[in-house]
Amino acid sequence: MRFEGKTAVITGGSSGIGRGTVDLFLREGATVVVGDIDEAEGSAMMSTLGEGFHFKKCDVTQEEQVKALMDHAAEKTGGIDIVFNNAGAGASRNPIDEISGDDWDFAMALLLKSVAMGIRHSAPHLKKRDGGAIINTASVCAFQAGFGPIAYSTAKAGVLHLSKVAAAELAQYKIRVNAICPGFIQTNIFAATVGANKEEAAQINSVLGQAAAGAQPVARPGVPNDIAEAVAYFASDAAGFITGTHLLVDGGLLVGTQASW
Ligand code: NAD
Repeated sequence: MRFEGKTAVITGGSSGIGRGTVDLFLREGATVVVGDIDEAEGSAMMSTLGEGFHFKKCDVTQEEQVKALMDHAAEKTGGIDIVFNNAGAGASRNPIDEISGDDWDFAMALLLKSVAMGIRHSAPHLKKRDGGAIINTASVCAFQAGFGPIAYSTAKAGVLHLSKVAAAELAQYKIRVNAICPGFIQTNIFAATVGANKEEAAQINSVLGQAAAGAQPVARPGVPNDIAEAVAYFASDAAGFITGTHLLVDGGLLVGTQASW
């Protein structure tokens, strides 16, 4: 019960990594407020997850909706202690010599500005609690080409640096800011990018999961709870001396597999 008496706001909590983190934080005693564009799933979660769970529809590309989410969470639960800026989706797959300016702007709004505004509009609430923890979702794509398209990868690299500078600026208020960098995690994101239905999604995840498992030292696909555990660590008092850094949770993907000769 690491988070008893604490409120955690989780964006993108209706699916995948966010959903796995919702489940873990509820098990650990937190009150959880999810902001997500998927209102249908949010309502379903409201009816199954019980009293400690709240949902507010929020499109993280819209600053006023991000502010409304943070204000709503604080008002509903009495204050905010933990923020997981995690919502995201695939972006244009066009390479740099083909991508449109509009597609570039959208990727930055969805994957980078959203995180900045999540920090911007939660910080006043965390200050009122005399501190707290913010965790932002980056990616292995922030480190290496070849894992994601250019606009997505550039935005995720931005999330890393944003987390560092925000950590430096907010330390005086006892607010810690860190980033997690998932490798391949079996969620809806890949299927959603290509508009696949549920069966196709399972197939896509199975194929990608096998490919990832073959390319990384920990030879199994990653699952949302792998990331949730890292988020919980950053959010917990055990990480009280840790700010402005990141954790790769990728089964060793960036290390690579051992040569077999
Ligand atoms: P997912 O599709 O399962 O979940 C993403 C959630 O974000 C969904 O609930 C979706 O409704 C929500 N969302 C999308 N656009 C939104 C918007 N504009 N406003 C509010 N909510 C929105 O995908 P996931 O894999 O769990 O992705 C979570 C985060 O993890 C993303 O930031 C993604 O870039 C990142 N990530 C995922 C992987 C992976 O392998 N799955 C790897 C690295 C990073």
